[in-house]
Amino acid sequence: MDNLLDNVLYQDAIGQLESAASAMNLDPNILDRLRYPKRSLTVSVPIRLDDGTVKTFLGYRVQHNMTIGPGKGGIRFHPNVDLAETAALAMLMTFKCALVGLPLGGAKGGIKVDPRELSRQELQALTRRYATEINMMVGPTVDIPAPDIGTDGQTMAWFLDTYSQLKGYTVPGVVTGKPISVGGSLGRAESTGKGVAFCVKFAADYLNYKINENTKVAVHGFGKVGVPAAVDLAAQGAKIVAVSDVSGGVYDPNGLNLQEAVEWTKSGKLLADLYPDKKISNEELLELDVDILVPAAIDGVVTKENAPRVKAKIIAEGANGPLTKDAVEICTKNGAFIIPDILCNAGGVIVSYFEWVQGLQNFFWDLDQINSKLYSILKEAFDNVIKCHETYKVDMKQAAFIAALQRLANAMRVRGLFPA
Ligand code: NAD
Repeated sequence: MDNLLDNVLYQDAIGQLESAASAMNLDPNILDRLRYPKRSLTVSVPIRLDDGTVKTFLGYRVQHNMTIGPGKGGIRFHPNVDLAETAALAMLMTFKCALVGLPLGGAKGGIKVDPRELSRQELQALTRRYATEINMMVGPTVDIPAPDIGTDGQTMAWFLDTYSQLKGYTVPGVVTGKPISVGGSLGRAESTGKGVAFCVKFAADYLNYKINENTKVAVHGFGKVGVPAAVDLAAQGAKIVAVSDVSGGVYDPNGLNLQEAVEWTKSGKLLADLYPDKKISNEELLELDVDILVPAAIDGVVTKENAPRVKAKIIAEGANGPLTKDAVEICTKNGAFIIPDILCNAGGVIVSYFEWVQGLQNFFWDLDQINSKLYSILKEAFDNVIKCHETYKVDMKQAAFIAALQRLANAMRVRGLFPA
């Protein structure tokens, strides 16, 4: 556990926790309990590849804090996955769920793998073996996984099926983000990006800034979060001038043909090949002269090195931890308004919560109900963060942690410590 602190994302999460704790005078006993995860599991995941050989991958599931309810958090398939990254992301989930008032705790899981190098059959075997290895730690009342980078509704369907085979009956509530045909919720697929776009609107209203056809937006990471965020920001009237994926991106200061970019990406092609004359690198995209930047790919892409060159007025953290702690300080000092990740990308866990509730009740809601509940929960959380931002005179990242900690610390205090 000690080497968790060697990881930058973990250091940043602890750094944010400590500065928020100090600003709000948090009971040091509560702070101490939040520094480390409640429970973590490392598993080996051996699978037979299509060529007949056996390859073993490393997988993880970490539960950071479950004071307010069962653990909730995605499963990531990515080469950078390790215990420390998973633990940091689990911690962020604790604060995200607390911030938006869900009766859920924080967890995260993943496998160190590049899913693009595996066939569909190999991915299915990997998911099923991983689900089997961590099955003692998950369940609809214990810990409920969801998709994250490199995983999707199909992954969740395999996970659900494996868990249900082990139980002997179908357990839809074991995962969220699953396909509608096996109990998924309307609106879940777009919910994180939709939430990002709602938060940008709240931020623009707060700053008295009118989003219109002159508002330029760059989206770094055109995936499950980035695509719906771009689509909804365009629907609000903004101009999407740049989008990127792992291969690089495309930029047109007059606005891209968003529909074309979405279809290109959905057909599995890389954006670097979309318009050869409009190609830019991911690094260049982050520094474009835009009004709104949505980093929605991976963590740590804005650092103390490139932060001084970021020009966006509103930075909406679609990804988890896309700005390092130093970068947050630099961008805030330079006048940017940062919508912190635990607020900005909370739309996904909010609709995951709706999906879980619908699954437990076997009663399903329509899309308008989902989106209007999503809007009101995020608006209340945004207003709460602004209140902390103004009351404690701290930046938005710290304000979000304070708002989350107020709720979490109260719950930890009244539950007390076991044994007493
Ligand atoms: P995704 O795999 O669907 O999309 C990720 C996008 O980023 C893809 O376009 C990919 O090509 C690109 N990308 C990957 N590595 C990159 C790199 N090194 N440089 C530039 N681009 C890169 O994943 P997603 O679900 O959209 O998740 C994106 C981020 O949002 C992650 O940080 C994730 O933890 C966070 N998040 C996702 C959800 C959700 O509901 N999917 C919810 C909350 C937070």
